[in-house]
Amino acid sequence: MAASRTTMENEDNIPEYEYVDVNTNVFHIGSFQSEWLKRLSPQEWSYQQQDETEFDANFAKDMQINAQTMDALKSVCSYDSLCCHPEEEKPDMETVPEDSILRTLLQRKKRQDYKASLKIHKNRHDLYAEELDRLTVVRKPDTVTDMLPEGEIILTINIYYPAVFDKFNYVRPHMTLLMTGSHTLAELRDAICCVSDLQVCGEFSNTPDVAPDFTSKDLYKSAFFFFEGIFYNDMRFPECQDISMTIIEWAKSHNFPPYSQAGMEDTRFSDLKVKVGFPYLYCHQGDCEHLVIITDVRLTHRDDCLDKKFYPLLIHKHRIATQKCAVCHIFIGRWFTKNDQFAPSDPCLFCEKCFRMLHYDSEGKKLGNFVAYPYVDRGAFN
Ligand SMILES: [Zn+2]
Ligand SMILES: [Zn+2]
Repeated sequence: MAASRTTMENEDNIPEYEYVDVNTNVFHIGSFQSEWLKRLSPQEWSYQQQDETEFDANFAKDMQINAQTMDALKSVCSYDSLCCHPEEEKPDMETVPEDSILRTLLQRKKRQDYKASLKIHKNRHDLYAEELDRLTVVRKPDTVTDMLPEGEIILTINIYYPAVFDKFNYVRPHMTLLMTGSHTLAELRDAICCVSDLQVCGEFSNTPDVAPDFTSKDLYKSAFFFFEGIFYNDMRFPECQDISMTIIEWAKSHNFPPYSQAGMEDTRFSDLKVKVGFPYLYCHQGDCEHLVIITDVRLTHRDDCLDKKFYPLLIHKHRIATQKCAVCHIFIGRWFTKNDQFAPSDPCLFCEKCFRMLHYDSEGKKLGNFVAYPYVDRGAFN
């Protein structure tokens, strides 16, 4: 009986598809990790490179092939057999040979030709993304203490634009982050950039210098994640409120199954029960709601970025067009005004410089009767 229960528990913590190609059933991340570590031999998840002869012998045994077949396979699949340049020449990594029949090369050529046809050189976003890649791919930390432990779990997490932002709502993730099993949900919260945290509420035409001191994130610190019937509230600061209570009480009075609560800062990913591929919720600023989808849970590999300092590791960020100033059309809008005699439209968007130049004299005195609100562009995090 006891044995069968253990099997059941283990099976409960191994993700199987609930809906094929959509999401898995619920499983406990920490138990899934232990199950992996139990079933694999330590050298399979160790960062140490396995001895080649030993690897070959094991591989041949697993595949049930003899030594000759193994040798033949090794030579066919070797790096040398992929080279298509004459032996005496230095390999050119950029030029795809004209007569190639290898599918991957044909795809690469197609992409190269497409890129060349765009006639756009790399912009600052691409350069930044490349820089980040260079820093993090296969990175080893400088000190042992910064090393991700062997057998640690890595989660891939997609965060979507808030539901009010209908254009990209369900289409593509705004950000994709890699996090480890020992990160807390509060650390995920801090890694999410959302423009509504930076919003400044109020009219500041008389005191434009004061405006930046009042971002929404400083004023309204409450937030929660919702995973599998549990609200994980951010309670790190005295000002934080349990904003999930209203929903829990509403659900209770409408005969929904009971929901429970926990602290965001006390919950590590390895403590969570989740479905991979299933949409969950992050809610902050009262009603700014983002879908959060965990798309992968796996063990670390020696080719991962193994430096703890780089996690949560941003691996993708979607970019959107920014709204430019109505006067100079160069800089991103920072202020919008209404009832503004100097503006070409009502409301009108200005960059910091044009706003100050047009609306205040050299002593900083306000000219005219307009009202002005700080504006934070959605592309502010590009
Ligand atoms: Zn948001
Ligand atoms: Zn301007």
